[in-house]
Amino acid sequence: MNRAGFYTEEELKPHLQRPPQDPGAPGAGGKPFGKRRLSPEERKEKIDGFNKTQFNQFASDRISLHRDLGEDTRHPDCLKQRFQRCPGLPTTSVIIVFYNEAWSTLLRTVYSVLHSAPAALLTEILLVDDASTEDHLKTRLDDFVRQLNIVRVLRQPERKGLITARLMGVQAAQGEVLTFMDSHCECFPGWLEPLLARIVERPAAVVSPRISTIDHNDLKLKKPDPNWLYHVRGNFNWKLQFGWELIPEEERKERTNETHPIRTPTFAGGLFSISKSYFQHIGTYDEQMEFWGGENLEMSFRVWQCGGQIEIIPCSVVGHIFRLKNPHSFPRGNTMITRNLVRLAEVWMDDYKFAFYRSRRQANLTFLQNSYGDVSERRKLRKRLKCQNFSWYLRNIYPEAYVPDIRPVKYGKLLNVAWKCYLYVKKTKNKWKPVPEFKCNTAAAQYFEYTSRKELRLSISNLLCLHATRGRARVSLDFCRLKGRVTAAAPEQVWIYTENNKLKNTSSGKCLTVSQGTVIVAACKSNQVNQTWDFL
Ligand code: UDP
Ligand code: MN
Repeated sequence: MNRAGFYTEEELKPHLQRPPQDPGAPGAGGKPFGKRRLSPEERKEKIDGFNKTQFNQFASDRISLHRDLGEDTRHPDCLKQRFQRCPGLPTTSVIIVFYNEAWSTLLRTVYSVLHSAPAALLTEILLVDDASTEDHLKTRLDDFVRQLNIVRVLRQPERKGLITARLMGVQAAQGEVLTFMDSHCECFPGWLEPLLARIVERPAAVVSPRISTIDHNDLKLKKPDPNWLYHVRGNFNWKLQFGWELIPEEERKERTNETHPIRTPTFAGGLFSISKSYFQHIGTYDEQMEFWGGENLEMSFRVWQCGGQIEIIPCSVVGHIFRLKNPHSFPRGNTMITRNLVRLAEVWMDDYKFAFYRSRRQANLTFLQNSYGDVSERRKLRKRLKCQNFSWYLRNIYPEAYVPDIRPVKYGKLLNVAWKCYLYVKKTKNKWKPVPEFKCNTAAAQYFEYTSRKELRLSISNLLCLHATRGRARVSLDFCRLKGRVTAAAPEQVWIYTENNKLKNTSSGKCLTVSQGTVIVAACKSNQVNQTWDFL
């Protein structure tokens, strides 16, 4: 056989051929599960399913475990891509950790890998049970996967979370590359090869597919569209929440081929491939992180700071059911996520951790009470790998980020001396958004940072500023104009904190004043205590 050249289609055949699919079946081809009138029993089943899993399990249970996702609609550059047989693509173990996953979503994930990953490259699928309590995930699952011969179930004796569950999978993995996946995914054709090819090219690359949405209501897969003009990447805010953003305009313009990877400051962390030896080299995971959350940012900062790279490979597309909220409760609730975040901040963020502590005051408590466990091993790792500092990361990997003051000029609750009330703005539906006006509240208070650039930033989001539009008395909360590469604050958002504790706005020349319980700007007058503000 000719060893040179590219893999043939025959050589990249999957482990299992899909049984013939009825194109009219519910959800076939990645289409939405059709609507119809439900009987009272069905309606109850649907509601119960939602309550349990936070997605439409009723629909999922009625969609084929083998459904295909229809025509390959990726960009022509992706369809043209061929993979060199020499040096060849590495083998991979697919590791899927789960906790109380529904039967249909878990098995559809497994089949989707078996029907799409080239058999020659797929060493095994490892299902790691994080001590689920649901019956269907016990002997029924063991018996079922036995006939799939390259699928194995491993079990954590007690629930410890996805981090240690993944590590358990890694311990058992025989493939050269580790591929992690959530337990409610579906793979688009050709998803695996581009991930593995990039690792051959760059062994220190941690590569993520483009994650496509499987709708949590109707299980429709959002198919790739060759005309997609946008690319997203991962970011974070100073509360250390992960988020998505468009890639910078210049980068978008420089793209000449869809097969090119996208560098990303952070990644979602549920779906990715990494060389097994590199995973070991770079310090696996922080094993003392518990249950869920923070491990993706920890890995993002660590990989970049220690010489690797995190990328999204747009030709690799995997669907994932995004839910509106987490279906599982955690022991000790959210404090456990915060604890994970404090661990990563303490190890990787140097003094920028203080910006995080101000944005998430609960973290401050965890830090002060020293209840985040021992991080000395992780700090040693950072030293051993001679990693860059966080300021390097911000400058080189995420120059678009807003970099807060490590210690702002002033910080605290803003008290109006005359009215004994605090500057306060209501948040809307759990999100911090610009709001038209401020109130002065006698009970509730919020924390503000008076920055070295003389802005008044709402500490909790770090991206909203006290804003006075010229010619208007009312002050509002608006997006801070100073961010990332925009280095100048807008005069509407510049406030001079005077010697007698007034806040004088540069644009209007007026002072922050409380009038009838509302916060406005008015002409500055020397003896007016309703213009006097203290940081508490
Ligand atoms: N998971 C787990 N133990 C937990 C929480 C989650 O094993 O305590 C699994 C879960 O089944 C899923 C993966 O970890 O396969 C990621 O969790 P999830 O999908 O809830 O996170 P999301 O995708 O919503 O961020
Ligand atoms: Mn998930």
